[in-house]
Amino acid sequence: MTTRILVTGGAGFIGSHYVRALLAQDDGRVEVTVLDALTYAGRRVNLDAVRGDPRFSFVHGDIGDAILVDRLLARHDQVVHLAAETHVDRSIAGAADFVTTNVTGTHTLLEAAVRHGIDVFVQVSTDEVYGSIEAGSWPETDPLDPNSPYAASKASADLLALAQHRTHGLDVRITRCSNNYGPRQFPEKLIPLFVTRLFEGRPVPLYGDGRNVRDWLHVTDHAQGIELVRRGGRAGEVYNIGGGTELSNRELTGLLLEACGADWDLVQEVPDRKGHDLRYSVDWGKIRSELGYTPRVDFTAGLAATVDWYRRRRDWWEPLLPASSAGVVGQR
Ligand code: NAD
Repeated sequence: MTTRILVTGGAGFIGSHYVRALLAQDDGRVEVTVLDALTYAGRRVNLDAVRGDPRFSFVHGDIGDAILVDRLLARHDQVVHLAAETHVDRSIAGAADFVTTNVTGTHTLLEAAVRHGIDVFVQVSTDEVYGSIEAGSWPETDPLDPNSPYAASKASADLLALAQHRTHGLDVRITRCSNNYGPRQFPEKLIPLFVTRLFEGRPVPLYGDGRNVRDWLHVTDHAQGIELVRRGGRAGEVYNIGGGTELSNRELTGLLLEACGADWDLVQEVPDRKGHDLRYSVDWGKIRSELGYTPRVDFTAGLAATVDWYRRRRDWWEPLLPASSAGVVGQR
């Protein structure tokens, strides 16, 4: 039997990797519709690899469009929800779009999912909902304590999703992943911002003293985790996804300078981001023991391949430069 899956935000960074992974399984049992508003972060070109696949279709639209969402959910079995405003710095400059898409948009999807008896609703969330942790790692049972407007909007969406599970029995499964890297990430996030600037011999901005620590996971490992949860996760449960490589922003900057053949004199220390979380770290033992998840991409190899992709794919990122360099720049 074919499962009809609606993937929101599939033209973005992680969504486009997830859709490729879904269709690459090649068991002929999935049909995938991407619903994407093609904001500044979403691009049709990201889906070029699957465009000719008869199991794939694309709908240009907004998750907040209740009529469109209702019509789409009437003919789908499952939802994997990635569409979001995702850049923390933009949320600090103004959070209205984050509330509209991440909170109200998710609510619109959830209500339609309940109405149409959707089998599985995967809410793709983030480790940032837990706040900041100096030592140790968060299990899924830790309280939500978000600091940025972005993280607060994702935490709100998580709570709405869990409420639809508890109230209406909707099979909601939440994933909370650490920092992703890989090809096709918009060049406002740390790794693509730095490498595209360093290739041009331009300076890169390092927040504060650069001691903020993140766990870097290859995007295909995140996609793998989402798929394991869609297939085998339990209703009403949260699954952390992590197991990448913990690095301070200063350490990561050193690696990126080396990979791009650049020196520290291109690094400009800029005033720290407001409310900058010091460290994120998820405990991902649950998805490992319940669903057999384990990250596959070695960080050194994955980073080298990512830098190489940006080196080869100027056609992908050069058209984005005016927007990213004139607008808000920064790091997740
Ligand atoms: P992205 O910014 O690259 O892509 C977001 C996509 O959503 C874009 O294609 C955009 O056009 C689409 N979109 C935005 N608003 C929409 C709307 N109203 N209706 C329909 N589509 C809309 O983001 P990403 O980095 O790929 O993140 C995807 C998801 O994963 C997000 O929910 C994010 O919170 C989560 N996440 C990201 C990371 C990370 O490191 N990037 C880590 C953990 C979780």
